[in-house]
Amino acid sequence: METLPIFLKLRQRLAVVIGGGEVASRKVKLLHKAGARICVVAPELHAELEDMLSLAHISHVAAVFSPQHLTGAVVVIAATDNEDVNREVSLAAQAANIPVNVVDAPELCTFIVPSIVDRSPLLVAVSSGGAAPVLARMLRTRIETMIPASYGRLAALAGEFRDVVKQRFSNGQQRRIFWEDVFQGPIGELMLSGQETQAREALQAATMGSGELHFGEVYLVGGGPGDPDLLTFRALRLMQQADVCVYDKLVSKEVMELVRRDAELIYVGKSRDQHTLPQEDINQLLVRLAKEGKRVLRLKGGDPFIFGRGGEEIETLMEHQVPFQVVPGITAANGVSSYAGIPLTHRDYAQSCLFTTGHLKDGSVDLDWPALVRTGQTVVIYMGLVGLPEICKQLIAHGAAPELPIAIVQQGTTQRQRVVAGTLASLPGQVEGAGLRAPCLIIVGEVVRLREKLAWFAPSPAAE
Ligand code: SAH
Repeated sequence: METLPIFLKLRQRLAVVIGGGEVASRKVKLLHKAGARICVVAPELHAELEDMLSLAHISHVAAVFSPQHLTGAVVVIAATDNEDVNREVSLAAQAANIPVNVVDAPELCTFIVPSIVDRSPLLVAVSSGGAAPVLARMLRTRIETMIPASYGRLAALAGEFRDVVKQRFSNGQQRRIFWEDVFQGPIGELMLSGQETQAREALQAATMGSGELHFGEVYLVGGGPGDPDLLTFRALRLMQQADVCVYDKLVSKEVMELVRRDAELIYVGKSRDQHTLPQEDINQLLVRLAKEGKRVLRLKGGDPFIFGRGGEEIETLMEHQVPFQVVPGITAANGVSSYAGIPLTHRDYAQSCLFTTGHLKDGSVDLDWPALVRTGQTVVIYMGLVGLPEICKQLIAHGAAPELPIAIVQQGTTQRQRVVAGTLASLPGQVEGAGLRAPCLIIVGEVVRLREKLAWFAPSPAAE
């Protein structure tokens, strides 16, 4: 190990920055975040630095560097574009035993400023010892994506209770187990999902020995249209900590691959006309599993609140006072249209967009046809594969032009994506022998025409 990672307390202490350019300005910002008193030594200041002088604890000495500027400093950063000045600063600081960093000159530094992930009070610092700063920054980005934004608030909450917990458990191992349960269990989850008051109350109760550290809960998670790259960070995190996963037919197998391996999987089906488990039974199943103390992942295709019956499921959970959280997902209309190269709105062709369902009721599609044939809009029809011929027929009967472009997309965003595009008059014939398989999404409107121009921009579907 070439260096020792340490975290320096700078609040109210003097940091001297030599240089007045853009790089110096970035360093000043960082030092300011750490609460330092900052003195910038430079004959002239970059506009941004000039503006920062109005902030408390930042002062400017308009002069060329001389060693006396370091008096009282606990840390020094040289960020000038003059190598000689940088060297002089480094030597002067070292002579006075003040830690010094010279930007982009590791040989002149006695300390390194790492790449940081800031979830204050939680901090992660990454350094390559000056060997490969770009690599360190890339690693930092990866860590950034792994740590939820609200981890800092979780750490701060733990800080509030640290002494109380220390008094309650004198044994270090018990304390560790307590905190692991807090961070990995529902209290941590409450915090990460923004329910801070409830989290504080639950933690308070737990420290007094009256609350539960393990209680079941339900995560109603949108799994997106198929490509696992379209999952949200939160969806992935919850998928990887669930005890049991209740999922539908719509969730792609690539997304299912990312559910925690040890989780029990319960398939509740739902394909057209053959509901494997009636909705009411699914609602009850979720309640039962949560009441057994499990972390239940209710994983749905797309977004749970768009034709996903998520509303009904949470109603039952609320009736039974089961804690839950809802994680939005990319709905089919968004994901599928962009992978198919069809923008849903466009300045010239569509100023609004309407999502509707084309599910057949007793063999007929019962929709608000006059609203669907308005011009200047895009209509996205979910669950419309079987009803397609009837949908095209009705749209024409209600005044839409037979030449109006329409596309149907099979299993969009996955390797199995197929797009068939045509007009209201032609598409039913094109689809007849095409053997399309559910799920399929229908997009109607002038925007479909843009596909030819834009398709090559579209992300390629997920690899299998
Ligand atoms: N909650 C889901 C929709 C459920 S309804 C969402 O927000 O996307 C089921 C319908 O969604 C399917 O019949 C189909 O029309 C559409 N759908 C979902 N995923 C799709 C995909 N990958 N490709 C095409 N259509 C899809």
